[in-house]
Amino acid sequence: MAERKSYRLPTTVAPERYELTLAPDLANWTFTGEEKISLNVHEPVREIVLNAAELELHSIELRLADGKVLPGQPSLDAENEQATLSFSENVPAGRHELQIKFSGILNDKLHGFYRSTYKDENGRERRLASTQFESTDARRAFPCWDEPACKAVYQVTLVVDEKLAAISNARVVRETALRESGKKRVVFADTIKMSTYLVAFIVGEFEASDPAMVDHAPLRVWAVPGKKQLGGFASDIGKFSLEHFSRYYAIPYPGDKLDLIAIPDFASGAMENLGAITFRETALLVDREKATRAELERVADVVAHENAHMWFGDLVTMKWWNGLWLNEAFATFMEMLAVDAWKPEWRRWDSFTVSRAAAMQVDGLKSTRPIEFPVERPEEAAGMFDVLTYEKGASVLRMLEQYLGDEAFRAGIRLYLRRHAYGNAETTDLWDALEESTRQPARALMDTWIFQPGYPVISVEKQGRSICLTQRIFRYLRDGSDQDRKWHVPIFLRAGTKSGVVQKTLLLTEREQSIEFDDAADWVVVNAGGHGFYRVRYSAELLDALKRGLQNRLSAVERFNLVNDTWAATLAGLTPLPDYVGLIELLHEENDVNVWTTVIGSGHHLRRILDDAQCTELARRLRQLFTPAVERLGWTPKNGESELESQLRGDLIGALGTLAEDQDCQRRARELFAQYENAPDSVDRNLLPALVAIVAHTGAASDYEKFCNRFKTAKTPQDETRYLFVLANFRAPELIDRTLNLTINGDVRTQNSPYLMRGILLNKHAREKAWAFMKAHWDEMIRLYPDNAIPRMCEGIVGLIKPELEADAREFFAKHPVKQGAKQMEQHLERLHVAVLCQKRWQEFLHS
Ligand SMILES: [Zn+2]
Repeated sequence: MAERKSYRLPTTVAPERYELTLAPDLANWTFTGEEKISLNVHEPVREIVLNAAELELHSIELRLADGKVLPGQPSLDAENEQATLSFSENVPAGRHELQIKFSGILNDKLHGFYRSTYKDENGRERRLASTQFESTDARRAFPCWDEPACKAVYQVTLVVDEKLAAISNARVVRETALRESGKKRVVFADTIKMSTYLVAFIVGEFEASDPAMVDHAPLRVWAVPGKKQLGGFASDIGKFSLEHFSRYYAIPYPGDKLDLIAIPDFASGAMENLGAITFRETALLVDREKATRAELERVADVVAHENAHMWFGDLVTMKWWNGLWLNEAFATFMEMLAVDAWKPEWRRWDSFTVSRAAAMQVDGLKSTRPIEFPVERPEEAAGMFDVLTYEKGASVLRMLEQYLGDEAFRAGIRLYLRRHAYGNAETTDLWDALEESTRQPARALMDTWIFQPGYPVISVEKQGRSICLTQRIFRYLRDGSDQDRKWHVPIFLRAGTKSGVVQKTLLLTEREQSIEFDDAADWVVVNAGGHGFYRVRYSAELLDALKRGLQNRLSAVERFNLVNDTWAATLAGLTPLPDYVGLIELLHEENDVNVWTTVIGSGHHLRRILDDAQCTELARRLRQLFTPAVERLGWTPKNGESELESQLRGDLIGALGTLAEDQDCQRRARELFAQYENAPDSVDRNLLPALVAIVAHTGAASDYEKFCNRFKTAKTPQDETRYLFVLANFRAPELIDRTLNLTINGDVRTQNSPYLMRGILLNKHAREKAWAFMKAHWDEMIRLYPDNAIPRMCEGIVGLIKPELEADAREFFAKHPVKQGAKQMEQHLERLHVAVLCQKRWQEFLHS
């Protein structure tokens, strides 16, 4: 018999159905509960082990199949978050019922069964309770078999104040008033067979939108009072994406209703509880008339993502947390498909290149990890919610889909879901289904991307009528290790020859391969279409040919990749900085928002690395680049322009006024913001973020006061976060101090404070103060903030680009390890080191 790891539950006993009653007490932030669990005991046992954390167990009874009742004694193991129930005699094999009464606290850490508050229109604090169980926090709400493979049916009952709404995974079957106590008992229908981490209960003064029907299921959007009218946009994409997925998967939505609920305090973006998806407010509630295109896209993305999980994750679930990527990469991939189908004019797969680039940035580090790797203790699963699981995972699925063909790919997905519905699966099950339906070697191809960290850079050279491709691992820091790594690289290639444009697709499995053309190629695009998760490095001759035809030989995504790959090569010391700057200076005719996003992003990065004199020169050259582009677009929307054009105008003006320090632009932005204050509708909504950023960048105390007040009185979640997070961009020392103080003084929700802190660390003028402040208040921050936010807050240290700050950061984190994000912390420190090396390397840049 294999040795059982201490944190894993024995497999001798399996739960089949929970009848769960919970009574939250919002006045005291506590709850009591009672559960009856139908068990299948596979072999006789003396004790039953299940998960429980921060719970008190009051009475335990086991009712055997023959009617005999055995009382149980609990002993709690806090470290492994388990309760061992001992019985006075052997429990025989068979079906029995375990009954437990328990109580717990509604905690303030945004996990388990937790508290949340908001102010009503009279400024009075209102209270509510919600749940967040993924990965392993259902055990804080009720004793359970808290492992994804222990699927069971849940019948939930909530006992709550009469005036409160009560929501759980399934529809309400009965509501009974309990007259003497002023409470009511709300009984919900049985759920499908599912994992504990998907169970949810939400209790508070929520209001719902009118239901939109999706087949048999009503879909509603819920918000605290006063915000219901912000749910229409989410309801639309909710209905569209749910229908889209039921067609794509060829399986109807598995729940009996779908509630989308905005929770004022929420640790992540959203959580895919079957039938009761919870969101942070910015990811669900939005004013479709006033929000920017990017803000609307965020809501559409998150809603589509969570809906995709109803099948991928909820209906079919990973066996253990090492397979988390199966859930998240797929939901991210499906989110793109759905949003792209809903609003083709947003060109969602094009903007996905920005997410892919973010994953490639982390995956080019020595401290990266494979998409799937062994997760031992369940809390380690917390560290897997990162760009490698989501964005790299989705990117390699997209690459596979493009290589296999979308219909063949979809057929494999359908087979996989049908085969494992209501059960659990592993990565290998997915390859089985894809190979069966496509007859293509999906496993060999994907194993190199899923189980191997990093990615290759493909070098491209011309040799007569042939193009020679060579793959080698891409790394920002080259120490000669891992050079023998190879990938099965789907290569999409387009070449311009004398006889016309030629396209080829091939699978590069060896180190090198030559492709012969009938005529010599004048130019060639490798990674044509831009779906590949790799970089390309052209010989000087081939690069020159592409530079000569940037706008006519390359698509927008291909230009994005050319700029982004060159920037990465620059950071890695493979390409001199002047060459990169020379490349972006060729973009004066560029009109694609994503290409500009990567240019602007690299500009901000450079600004943090370079010294003041160099920054002045950088700003001068960027003014020359941005000014004509802004002049071409103008400051006001043109009739009939696309939403992407409106967004581009905002992005470019924002960059011209901050990064490029254009004084004329700064003056004009201030005037327009003043106009916005008097007549909000007279200013294009996509311009607002730029105006706010420029005012903060050049801002004084009076501006700060104004924004702070707007943050506190905002009517939409988007305005609230816009005016909050921009406070990190002010430059005056006393204003930096005020923002730092906001991160711990209780004025900002703990769901937002860590991200505000990250923003201040990334502000070049604030970084030293911010770092000192974070060190001084570290223990307090750890106590206040949700656990998952700590490694994300610490991403801000990549801005501490000075050798002495880097050394100090290393020393500090050696003494203060972030255990739920050890890998991410290593990555942040390596990114910082890459930037410090660049700073040394570029000391001469722009002075010569
Ligand atoms: Zn997800």
